[in-house]
Amino acid sequence: MTFRASVLTLYPEMFPGPLGVSLAGRALQEGTWSLETVQIRDFATDKHRSVDDTPAGGGAGMVLRPDVLAAAVDSAADGRPLLALTPRGAPLTQARVRQLAGGEGAILLCGRFEGFDERIFEARAIEPVSIGDYVLSGGELGAMVLLDACVRLLPGVMGAASSGEEESFDEGLLEYPHYTRPQIWEGRTIPEVLRSGDHAKIAAWRHERALEDTRLRRPDLIERHGGASQAPPSGAQRRDTKA
Ligand code: SAH
Repeated sequence: MTFRASVLTLYPEMFPGPLGVSLAGRALQEGTWSLETVQIRDFATDKHRSVDDTPAGGGAGMVLRPDVLAAAVDSAADGRPLLALTPRGAPLTQARVRQLAGGEGAILLCGRFEGFDERIFEARAIEPVSIGDYVLSGGELGAMVLLDACVRLLPGVMGAASSGEEESFDEGLLEYPHYTRPQIWEGRTIPEVLRSGDHAKIAAWRHERALEDTRLRRPDLIERHGGASQAPPSGAQRRDTKA
């Protein structure tokens, strides 16, 4: 089954952009996923083909008109989840990405200027999503972030089938740190335990480091996931009981 992405944007020329290279690009070529862009301006109705107007209540900038947005959305809508990129949305999570990647695809609405007329969200049951607490100039990069996160999880996209299984955020923690050769680099060595060949010890060390780094860098994750994140990952547990 192909994961189908439709991106509604005023700048379709930005796509596939970075989604056309590496893993996502190869998967796109191979038909693991498809990407369609819809030019929002094609749904403007006045002679100037305007898509925006001044904000009600005054203030700077321009707001995307709901009638034009609705026509663009309706042209693509076919039951796939509808999402709009906006800093006012709920933050995108790996859990949501996994859900989306397991589905038929997504229709993504990209804002520009001051954003969307608020009425569009309820009128078309659109889920507002944010990619982080900062403001971009448009939703396109956000749509690319969301699609990149989904596409790498599609079956067959990542080389080692397992490399998508236990990653940052899946256990409510950041992932443990990685090391590779050379063994000694600029006087710094790889942690001894990783060379021990003792898989239970390695798993325990990795879990400790994941906890430690998460506490240090992302205490919000520990708070959000509470006790669940204190339990060792299932892999570590399995190996512990075998040893
Ligand atoms: N005035 C708005 C920001 C508009 S930025 C506000 O303060 O909320 C213009 C467009 O960029 C938005 O409509 C949205 O599509 C996109 N955008 C900006 N920041 C974003 C973010 N953090 N996540 C997702 N989309 C974002």
